[in-house]
Amino acid sequence: MTLKRLTYNATARYTHDITTGFAGMRASQFHIRTTKETPNDAEIVSHQLMIRAGFIRRLGSGLYTLMPLGLRVVRKIEAIVRDEMNSAGAVELLMPSIQPAELWEESGRWEKFGPELLRIQDRHGRDYCLGPTHEEVITDIARRDIKSYRQLPLNFYQIQTKVRDEVRPRFGVMRSREFIMKDAYSFSLGEESLQACFDQMHTAYCNVFDRMGLEYRAVEADSGSIGGAQSREFHVLADSGEDAVVYATEGDYAANMEKAAVVCQTSRGDASESMATVDTPGVHTIAELSAKLDINETQCLKTLLVKGTTTAVVALVLRGDHQLNEVKAEHLDEVASPLTMADANDIKTAANCDAGSIGPVGLSIPVIADADAATMSNFVCGANENGKHLTGVNWGRDLAEPQIRDLRNVIEGDLNPMGTGTLKIVRGIEVGHIFQLGSAYSEAMGATVLDENGKPQVMQMGCYGIGVTRVAAAAIEQNNDAQGIIWPESIAPFEAVICPVNMVKSEAVQAAAEVLYQELKAAGIDVLFDDRPLRPGAMFADMELIGIPHRFVISDKLLANDEVEYRGRRDSESSVLSRSDVLTKLRK
Ligand code: ATP
Ligand code: MG
Repeated sequence: MTLKRLTYNATARYTHDITTGFAGMRASQFHIRTTKETPNDAEIVSHQLMIRAGFIRRLGSGLYTLMPLGLRVVRKIEAIVRDEMNSAGAVELLMPSIQPAELWEESGRWEKFGPELLRIQDRHGRDYCLGPTHEEVITDIARRDIKSYRQLPLNFYQIQTKVRDEVRPRFGVMRSREFIMKDAYSFSLGEESLQACFDQMHTAYCNVFDRMGLEYRAVEADSGSIGGAQSREFHVLADSGEDAVVYATEGDYAANMEKAAVVCQTSRGDASESMATVDTPGVHTIAELSAKLDINETQCLKTLLVKGTTTAVVALVLRGDHQLNEVKAEHLDEVASPLTMADANDIKTAANCDAGSIGPVGLSIPVIADADAATMSNFVCGANENGKHLTGVNWGRDLAEPQIRDLRNVIEGDLNPMGTGTLKIVRGIEVGHIFQLGSAYSEAMGATVLDENGKPQVMQMGCYGIGVTRVAAAAIEQNNDAQGIIWPESIAPFEAVICPVNMVKSEAVQAAAEVLYQELKAAGIDVLFDDRPLRPGAMFADMELIGIPHRFVISDKLLANDEVEYRGRRDSESSVLSRSDVLTKLRK
């Protein structure tokens, strides 16, 4: 009956996904290699499952082959990204991985980038790097090709292999040394136009991650030395994430930990105690100090000395239970960049003691206090003498009022800086980053256009990245169970799988499976026909590990009633469907 429906249909030839070219596969002609072993270095579930299910194979530290299953996922991610970039008016090109050092010297990054930049020489001894990103190359193209404001705005993108000699490659393709990134670079005349490009990319990124069915947040991020410029990171939420993401319980404020602003909630109490010196032999940390004196850490003041710009060192003080935010500290004019902790010699010179006994009383260097530290009264701090601390210390009485800045990481329960509700902290995996570069590169490299009045103007740039291979891993972190991966349909290596039971013994099963395979393919479904001579249990286990969203089982028993068995990858039980309802089920 069904056979007749499957007469050749000319349009069926074009029903496969034209963006990926994928239109179903027979397992016997594909390459599926699952394993029960979990590699020792695989700390997180996505890394373990990608290896066990045969999506990636390790070649060396931070170097992975995308096996056929893994490549299918990556191609589907790329197709979604490409579609959204094209819809947003971005134009695709492809730049080389190998980039001449001269360009990097022009931007100043040949010196600045550090060891993450993998540098190579050619046979003539000329210097090159393997591109970790492509601002220099694209700016070189823009300064040659874009001459008039009439050509703007313009947004170029590519999907390309990046190389970064990561200090600690780990988590498989989550942080590898070679990975696939979509990077886009917009060129505009004026900041308004840059903002419009940025907003457009923000929307495109939301569309991309929505289409992948991922739970994510777009958060404010630090824009480094480029003041005022906007920067947003897109994080997939997962407990294994390397980053802390801060968001408000009410309203839509969200930021990464580096950027999240603290609103001081306390006011200073009365100076009711007098200052006294106490012996604290062997006390070096806030924890030891609070234990020794039997006081709360909130009553202790922490003093850190860092290298300064106009003075050798600067004192940064925080409430004992708070953590220094290094990015906020680095932005202070008084503090040297990159942030560098004072060494033992510097500490001896400035405070005449070791690191565990420093306090702000009597120091003749700038003292910058976090806002919460500045509200403390009757506090305990180091006495600038080894083995001694001061108690009952008060600002303005025992030492000068400090300069007050936001210096600390937010903690759960802090006030939302936008005024509504409080802050919560979750873990996130950074999968994308959009950033206003302004004129940082275009100025250094002389990328100008003529404006309406024929005057040369430096172009405004934005850059926009998505970690394509990292997205695959992040999707698994968010979607897995004891049996394996649960792919979101839009990026699954196959949308559906047909599992025939004992096909070798039953011609009827074989014929029915073949018909269903052809039918699903013709309907444009990227279906896997598991025609391997495996027992059902082993076949099902493989398909669950690989994470295919929809499974159809065909057996003699089911065929007798013209039925198939269906199971969605998240379903706890299978259900029986009429054979004619298969396509309806999938279309739902
Ligand atoms: P991270 O803080 O994780 O190192 P980054 O700030 O260096 O990221 P960008 O330079 O903004 O990252 O790169 C754009 C995107 O490329 C990131 O959002 C991330 O998804 C991806 N990415 C960056 N480094 C790696 C890597 N080593 N392996 C895989 N993907 C990466
Ligand atoms: Mg990095």
